[in-house]
Amino acid sequence: MRAMSALGLLLVVGSANAAVQNVDCGRLLDVKAGVWREKVTVSVENGIVKSAAPTGAAKGDIDLSSQACLPGLIDMHVHLASETQRQVEALRSTLSLDAADEAYRSVPFAERTLKAGFTTVRDLGATDGLNIAMKRAIAAGSIPGPRIFTAGTMIATTGGHGDHSNGLSRELGKAKGRPTPYDGVINGPDEAREAVRARYKEGADLIKITATGGVLSQANSGQNSQFTDEELKAIASTAKDYGFRVAVHAHGLEGIKRALRAGLDSIEHGTYMDDEAIALFKKTGAYYVPTISAGRYVADKAKEPEYYTPQVRPKAAAIGPLIQSTFAKAYKAGVKIAFGTDAGVFPHGDNAKEFAYMVEAGMPALEAIRSATLHAAALLDQGSRLGSVEPGYAADLIAVSGDPLNDVTVLQKVTFVMKDGVVYKR
Ligand SMILES: [Zn+2]
Repeated sequence: MRAMSALGLLLVVGSANAAVQNVDCGRLLDVKAGVWREKVTVSVENGIVKSAAPTGAAKGDIDLSSQACLPGLIDMHVHLASETQRQVEALRSTLSLDAADEAYRSVPFAERTLKAGFTTVRDLGATDGLNIAMKRAIAAGSIPGPRIFTAGTMIATTGGHGDHSNGLSRELGKAKGRPTPYDGVINGPDEAREAVRARYKEGADLIKITATGGVLSQANSGQNSQFTDEELKAIASTAKDYGFRVAVHAHGLEGIKRALRAGLDSIEHGTYMDDEAIALFKKTGAYYVPTISAGRYVADKAKEPEYYTPQVRPKAAAIGPLIQSTFAKAYKAGVKIAFGTDAGVFPHGDNAKEFAYMVEAGMPALEAIRSATLHAAALLDQGSRLGSVEPGYAADLIAVSGDPLNDVTVLQKVTFVMKDGVVYKR
């Protein structure tokens, strides 16, 4: 057994030991071929899939013969270190809580995400290195959670979306000091390069920048351009030197276009993209990560008078409802799409609702599932290890009752979760 059960948080009924475990699936979704394989036994050894072959006469160790199995799901946009709350409460936390408080409070967020069937996530930004520490704690088996690829601290410009000193009083701002590239705030290409190197030093796996204004920051615009072309070029070339891919938060059109022209890897939200931006996506091969869930949630919460601050509320009401139709347009035009929700903006564990929103907007269920397996793995540069159940891949396997290709909402009720050969839900 791994040491993780010592915390008493887990229903660990398996372990990633050397012995072969056989999982009998009623059917298994072959995401590459896009078909169900009936009666398949998945053999797992040392956390890796050894084989996925027709079930023989012998009974396996885990009986999912009445269930439909799929690869573990991947969410490309989460913030596991925080969760939505009334913004006045969040501002009070800034005054009274330490990073350690936030770290303990985020432990259940990771567990809920994993038990919702998401065995891998890309965490796109937290303060105080919380997402990097969480990644290490999960990898060490100290707490249950998905495999994390983390951006560490997101990179913004002064006053931009991601400048965590926004909204503070002058006195508190002064006490905290001017945010630096280490804190994720840059001005000019030199500091942009320094910030990328600081992410390398802090142990990030990728880079996240905020190329335009955002909804939930204490700032006036949700869509103004916040990086110059020179800064974006500096980010792109330095990230390349360090083997980082770059995820770009962008709502506004000009910021989306600048980021695509700079050759960055994914656009998050992408709310105001037009046909020219869509053509740029297709030319550069960048991925679009929609986060419809976040848009719908904030639009809904904007109706509650005091959930957001007066500065944030109109942005949430204006931008939130647009994302789903942007997604519909991008999908129809053939933009590459990787599944991402912005979980944390809404409660962790509700990630799979995104599938229903994607299908509602015109994407077939199989394509939505591929966006959360094959395409997400490709954007992570993990396509030979994650996103499919086949020999040599990580043993990340989930199961549902029913057929998600007919009714994608069954993915909101996952019955079984295995990650790296360890069973977390059964
Ligand atoms: Zn986000």
